[in-house]
Amino acid sequence: MYDVIVIGARCAGSPVAMLLGRKGYRVLLLDRACFPSDTISGHMIWQPGIARLQRWGLLNNVVASNCPPVKDVKMDLGSYALSGVLPPSEGVEDAYCVRRTALDKILVDAAVAAGAELRERFSVTAILTENGRFTGIRGHSRGGRTIDEKARVVIGADGLHSLVARTAVAPEYRTRPAITCWYYSYWSGIRTNGVQAYLRERCMSILAPTNDGLTLVLTLWTHDQFHEIRSDIEGNYLRTLRQVPEVGAFLEGGRREERLRGMADVPNFFRKPYGPGWALVGDAGYHKDPVTAQGITDAFRDAELLSDALDSGFSGNRNMEQALQEYEQKRNDAVSEMYEFTCAMASLETPNAEMRQFHQALLRDQQAMDSFFGCLAGTVSSSEFLSPENRQKIIDAAA
Ligand SMILES: Cc1cc2nc3c(=O)[nH]c(=O)nc-3n(C[C@H](O)[C@H](O)[C@H](O)COP(=O)(O)OP(=O)(O)OC[C@H]3O[C@@H](n4cnc5c(N)ncnc54)[C@H](O)[C@@H]3O)c2cc1C
Repeated sequence: MYDVIVIGARCAGSPVAMLLGRKGYRVLLLDRACFPSDTISGHMIWQPGIARLQRWGLLNNVVASNCPPVKDVKMDLGSYALSGVLPPSEGVEDAYCVRRTALDKILVDAAVAAGAELRERFSVTAILTENGRFTGIRGHSRGGRTIDEKARVVIGADGLHSLVARTAVAPEYRTRPAITCWYYSYWSGIRTNGVQAYLRERCMSILAPTNDGLTLVLTLWTHDQFHEIRSDIEGNYLRTLRQVPEVGAFLEGGRREERLRGMADVPNFFRKPYGPGWALVGDAGYHKDPVTAQGITDAFRDAELLSDALDSGFSGNRNMEQALQEYEQKRNDAVSEMYEFTCAMASLETPNAEMRQFHQALLRDQQAMDSFFGCLAGTVSSSEFLSPENRQKIIDAAA
């Protein structure tokens, strides 16, 4: 009998297993994948996520994975470009765009070092229940026989299509259908100054430096274009990138090193993340468009919130139901504003006259422009910074 079984061992599951393991709980960590392995995902981690890696003692491993730090961000809007330095968070100045092959391995190893029992290549096929309460899992290792394992709590860190969420019929709220679709690959021979994004009519290209001298080159379009994009993925990917001469010049000097990967299944929703004997963390509990690159950072924060809630419930300091209710509330408070900002940004609308006027003012105020990028990284409140009053203040000051 385990205290918890965690299904999914990537950026939500491994941290929650690690944090509970460090608190002395008996943890079984399961994933049908093995590590290191890749998954369809970008991997920009802004400073609040990096601050957690530092707190957990794992930042050195990320740095050692041969991933360059990122400080500078540029957003090219066609006739002008905003560029700035990301504001620090908790004393952390650098963001990192660390590949999932490296990141997830670091996280899994940390969970095992904390005492979690890891089973890779293990598929969970069913959740065990008794009188409406989750009591364990049924599953099998690759080619192995079906076995049952029991736990006080089953945690679904099993991503967007979570088996735990489906079995619990976890209520969804603030739901919005997918707004964008994505294709990306990795290129050698490209040198960018930090992260560079190029917004054009209903599409965007993003370049970010990652491990081993490679650059992650992503394109995204509004979701209504998906069928058209899919009819010629390679052609549309390259055409979208090359419509910006600066990006075209980057590609001229570079070489694509890997196949194109894509994703259009990017809905937006919150799920109730707990019930009798179960909890959700990461994408399983809260999913949003990747345009603001929040998923990994959100998974880290929620791993901390959930492990604290479970600890206070297990130890008897709090009633478990109340502790988990508070977990949901804290998660929602932390992300509500960013959720709206993300959905708005994912529409890929080019700025209207009012926003262009604001951007022109930002171009004359570097500090304000840095704060603008802080909204993206989640270190500056977007509702305050982008409020009509604050925008007017910046416009007046620039005038
Ligand atoms: C195109 C794209 C770009 C993105 N870019 C960024 C970015 O730049 N920055 C950022 O922060 N986020 C980004 N994201 C979001 C990020 O990928 C997710 O938020 C993050 O992967 C969520 O982690 P997770 O651990 O919750 O789930 P996942 O990474 O989906 O992991 C779930 C794990 O559960 C396992 N699993 C599922 N079901 C079972 C089962 N039944 N039995 C056993 N194992 C199971 C899977 O094998 C998997 O390993 C991007 C996403 C996409 C699609």
